[in-house]
This record gives sequence, structure tokens and C-alpha cells, in this order.
Amino acid sequence: MTVVVNKKRPLDPIDYFPSGLVLPAVPLAVQEPNALLRGDTAAAVQDLFAAAADDGVGLTLVSGYRSYQDQVSTYEHWVAQNGGDTAAADRISARAGFSEHQTGLAFDVGQDDGACTLSPCFADTAAGQWMAANAHRFGFILRYPDGAEGITGFSGESWHYRYVGLDVAEAMRAEGTVTLEEHFGLPAAPGY
Ligand SMILES: [Zn+2]
Repeated sequence: MTVVVNKKRPLDPIDYFPSGLVLPAVPLAVQEPNALLRGDTAAAVQDLFAAAADDGVGLTLVSGYRSYQDQVSTYEHWVAQNGGDTAAADRISARAGFSEHQTGLAFDVGQDDGACTLSPCFADTAAGQWMAANAHRFGFILRYPDGAEGITGFSGESWHYRYVGLDVAEAMRAEGTVTLEEHFGLPAAPGY
């Protein structure tokens, strides 16, 4: 639950497959198997989405578990989108074996009307604002904050949340750390 995956810390083994993946009972903007999450994460996601709905904010699950093989395709897609520029792709997509999505502990969230899905403007949507203010109460952290690229290796992703459990999420808030690397005293991972 507290594993740190980054450009210096690949999955081990590289094609790691999490056990106990389940489909969370929340609105989905993606199909199985990419909506699956680890059991503990799925339960927390359900509580999170229910609390948002109580506040009148509609969330959807845009991307959950991604296999090693899926990440090969995802990364290749972003390299192609960037005209073969791997440095540009590396700022926004992990290479296979280095993605948090492979752990089953991370998910991309969207607003139910599809506004600003996987875009920087998601931060300004009701869903983005609600997540930023409340996700920690359910054991989630914003994994790639703006301005932390030198530590996390990724430009800001206001939609990518990671389950770390309540203890770590609350501790980070209390101590004012915004990355897992800082919280656990690990080296920055700006590159591979
Ligand atoms: Zn993500």
C-alpha cells in the first residue's frame, strides 16, 4: 500500500501483477480490465465517490489498473503523439514497468460530464477542486502535483490519485510534504 514506484524504482518484478483486483462499483469511463483496482483501493474509491456525490459532485473512473503490456502500448502512443520525442513522452507517461497504474493502487479521476478529462484544466473543475480538498480523507494523495516534476519525474496531473491509506495521507498533510519521495526520504526521480 505504501510502495513507491517512480523512474528510479520500477515494479519488481517488472511485469508484476497485483492479486485481488476488483471492479469498483462507481461510474466508469473505461472498460474492464482497465477499471480494476486492488480491493483496498476499490473500497476507498467507492467511499470517496459516494462522499463527492453527497456534495453534489459527480466523479467517474477514467483509468485504473494497467498491465505491463498495456503500459507498453500507452507509452508508445505518447511517443508517437510527440513525433518520436521520447523526452516529451517521458514527462507525461511512464515507461512499462514504471507506472503506478500497474500496482492497482492508482487511478485517474474525471468529472461525470467529461469536462477536461486528463487535461490540465481538470484542476479547475468542480470534480478537480473537490478531489484536491477531500481525497486525503479517504487515504488518497495527488501523486503528481504541479511544480514537483523535479522530484516525481512527471508534470502536474491533477487527475491522478494514489491510494496510500489514511495514515500516510494524513501524515503528509500534517507535515506539509506533497510527494511520496519527500515523505519517505527517498531520492528524487526526475529521470530514468
Ligand atoms: Zn494516471
